[in-house]
Amino acid sequence: MACLTIFRKQAQALDDALGKPGAMVVAAEIKGAGNGARWFATAHLDAFWREYAELPLDERVFYEVIPPHAVCRLYIDLEFATAANPEVDGEARVARLLRALMRELSKVFRLPTPLSIAHALVLDSSTPAKFSQHVIVHVPGRAFQDVYSVGKFMTTFVARLRARATRAGRSSCVDVAAKDGSPGCLVDLGVYTKNRNFRLYKSSKAGRRAPLVVARTSRFPITSEARLFRDSLVSASIDGADSMTILRCGNRQSVARPRLSLAPVEAERIEAGGSRVCGEHTPAAALFPAVFRHLEDVISPGGRIRTWFYIARSQRIVCEIAGSWKYCHNVKRHHASNNVMLIADLAHGGYYQKCHDPECAAIGFRSNLIPFPLDVLLTLPQFNSGFVDAVIAPHVARIYDRARPGTDGGAGPNSAHPSTRAAEIESSLALLATELDRLDGAGVSADIQS
Ligand SMILES: [Zn+2]
Repeated sequence: MACLTIFRKQAQALDDALGKPGAMVVAAEIKGAGNGARWFATAHLDAFWREYAELPLDERVFYEVIPPHAVCRLYIDLEFATAANPEVDGEARVARLLRALMRELSKVFRLPTPLSIAHALVLDSSTPAKFSQHVIVHVPGRAFQDVYSVGKFMTTFVARLRARATRAGRSSCVDVAAKDGSPGCLVDLGVYTKNRNFRLYKSSKAGRRAPLVVARTSRFPITSEARLFRDSLVSASIDGADSMTILRCGNRQSVARPRLSLAPVEAERIEAGGSRVCGEHTPAAALFPAVFRHLEDVISPGGRIRTWFYIARSQRIVCEIAGSWKYCHNVKRHHASNNVMLIADLAHGGYYQKCHDPECAAIGFRSNLIPFPLDVLLTLPQFNSGFVDAVIAPHVARIYDRARPGTDGGAGPNSAHPSTRAAEIESSLALLATELDRLDGAGVSADIQS
């Protein structure tokens, strides 16, 4: 393709596109590499489309690279394995999801005109084995600040859908089974990470011949193929971002306040832990799949969980991180060579980081506890729905009453929980309160108590 300027590294391509109007960064799998390795290129998006549209199916294997700090549209990756979900009607689920999403967006961002499903471009590349759709939502005159804002909005939205369904005693439209039969989610919340590669309209995964096409259920208006291509992009085709209203989610709160620290005061040597369950990654994903998925998101791209063990006594999962992700909260940057550990602290609903760097290890550095997002919290045994209904919900209501000027609230400590677990529950509640604050920041607290 003559329009492409090719780069070996993604960062070089992102640099090249910076500040060039109409430039997009694309990635494609290296032919025959078979390990998912990609090459990167920049092009003007109109020139790219003219050549790309003429390529044979086998060569349309491209991804849009979403720059980390670029404004973007809300995008969603939806998928489930058909065999594990024989009774699930994917199209009906997506229709329910989109109706709820349009209401939520309209309400949260106080849009002058409510959105309808015609604002969502739905693309489909389902096969008999796998339901697979992408959604790109166009909010007129508005764009999200970056992929992280979209991620926070979607994580909150999915958690609220689930909480609402739990309260109503039914399953939510996002509940599907993962391949191994464990509880899964229709919405892949792992796609809101740095330099995400999002597959292009009309592209297949390498060697799959299942291109993304307009879903038959899509109500998004289509005028021309070239226009459709622009509309299908997450970020590259957003014109006039300067005059747009920027949608933010959560950032204000998380920047403004220090991280909540719940780290126990006593020094702990992980080597001295009680009973351990060692294992490969696969059984761990079955034990606490959402926790592992979240940690993998945190270290993406570049990092992987090389090995892990579970300390049953203190309910911690110690994960050794390998790869290029070596971020250390002590030095506030990636280490050059020494690896880090992430320790999931299930009892306290978060994770913290320790370090193999000799200087960090010498001072016994461990980061503050970083709370899991609400949807991960809700998968932990102590936060299951019965517990939430019986213990958390009344507490949350009180937290809100107390926080609200003009109400007396302050109904005293909840006597429903066993006193032996009081400290843990208080910690959990503090975390939940943080999460609820974040919801507040996004303007979505209105019906928390309903
Ligand atoms: Zn360190």
